[in-house]
Amino acid sequence: MAALDPHLQEIYEVVLRRNPGEAEFHQAVLEVFESLGPVVLKRPEYVESRVLERLCEPERQVIFRVPWIDDSGRIEINRGFRVEFSSVLGPFKGGLRFHPSVNLGIVKFLGFEQIFKNALTGMPIGGGKGGSDFDPKGRSDREVMAFCQSFMTELYRHIGEYTDVPAGDIGVGGREIGYLFGQYKRITNLYESGVLTGKGLGWGGSRVRKEATGYGTVFFAQEMLRARGDSFDGKRVVVSGSGNVAIYAVEMAQRLGATVVACSDSSGYVVDESGLDLELLKQVKEVDRGRLADYAAGRPGATLVTDGSIWHVDCDVALPCATQNELDEDAAISLVKHGVSVVAEGANMPTTRAATRVLLDADVLFAPGKAANAGGVATSALEMQQNASRDSWTHEYTQERLEGIMRGIHERCAGSADEFGAPGNYVVGANTSSFVQLADAVLALGVI
Ligand code: NDP
Repeated sequence: MAALDPHLQEIYEVVLRRNPGEAEFHQAVLEVFESLGPVVLKRPEYVESRVLERLCEPERQVIFRVPWIDDSGRIEINRGFRVEFSSVLGPFKGGLRFHPSVNLGIVKFLGFEQIFKNALTGMPIGGGKGGSDFDPKGRSDREVMAFCQSFMTELYRHIGEYTDVPAGDIGVGGREIGYLFGQYKRITNLYESGVLTGKGLGWGGSRVRKEATGYGTVFFAQEMLRARGDSFDGKRVVVSGSGNVAIYAVEMAQRLGATVVACSDSSGYVVDESGLDLELLKQVKEVDRGRLADYAAGRPGATLVTDGSIWHVDCDVALPCATQNELDEDAAISLVKHGVSVVAEGANMPTTRAATRVLLDADVLFAPGKAANAGGVATSALEMQQNASRDSWTHEYTQERLEGIMRGIHERCAGSADEFGAPGNYVVGANTSSFVQLADAVLALGVI
């Protein structure tokens, strides 16, 4: 990787010193800083006014105990987090993750990414992220409800439709948002729909929110292909993960004429050469809360692979939609060897820095998550709009808005990459375009 501009290097070293042991947060900061050399050269006032230091320090970080009782009567203790990173563009906005790997460094990396992503949408939303090391997998509905109620009993003090608006992420879907919203409503005695997004359609949710991150990732990849005079039609696609983002990326890629031949979960991946059976995948994952082994058992011709990497399956388009750092340098080399032409990140930071370098050097069209997966948070902002006006839009209209937003993000990234001397580099485009917007707002609002 190229050396950082000396000003940026100095600031990065302070970030390392002040946030020890938070490897993912360091990685997220470095990925942004690596793009900003030409920006600070052109706009030295950003360095003089210490805008970068101000953006790297969250406005507020809350860590709390979450006690609850499991089905056997045992008292369980988890840790809850909410990192409110920046509200210069609007109320803090970003999901909650329930997964055993959650710690402060993970939440800070996600919150930091979120402020740039939200800026890219062009909508009035700041950035934050939260979650817990609670693992909903294998827990009964009652246990999940007990956990969510205890989590919200603390979180409610920190959120609100004009303050901080959480949504879902890994391990937090419609069921969890329902229990969280119910407890918020009960404690506050307010039907404040705009306090959480990802709600059910019958009680304040937006059409297309569930599908938005996966659809949006595919729309962004489609724009990149279009810029090269190509399309999804006839493409062979691999999608990692089999959760919310992955399922709807599969759905939209199939609608656009691609064949999706593989997807994964944390125990392995399935290869289904004739194309994934989406209805079966939804049944197994969304209805039965099962594993990909159940998909393979119910689908003649599908193979379950439990050792090795999904990125060794050859494809034209790769959509990493599971988790951070799941696509490493070896995986990138294998993808390039097999002729991949597009990689678009549905997940947050799924590609390591070394892997990103391999893909960019091979002239692969590469979309960073903060651009490609921004459709989820953008549709959350559309949900907030509908809640504020007590309205409910049609599926067609909402999807049209999402498509327009993704086209706008693509344009902004491509334009900013050109402006800062890196045409076709969407990493530089996403980081510079969002940074300039945030930095100007930081300057305008004074030292706060
Ligand atoms: P889900 O919980 O619905 O699905 C996550 C999927 O990723 C599951 O298939 C899960 O497998 C797999 N996975 C999780 N951790 C690992 C791991 N350590 N190794 C391998 N596989 C893993 O989450 P989402 O689909 O909502 O989120 C996926 C990614 O997209 C995350 O990075 C998230 O931050 C990002 N994202 C999500 C948005 C949203 O709207 N939901 C918005 C923008 C980004 P298993 O079930 O076996 O754990």
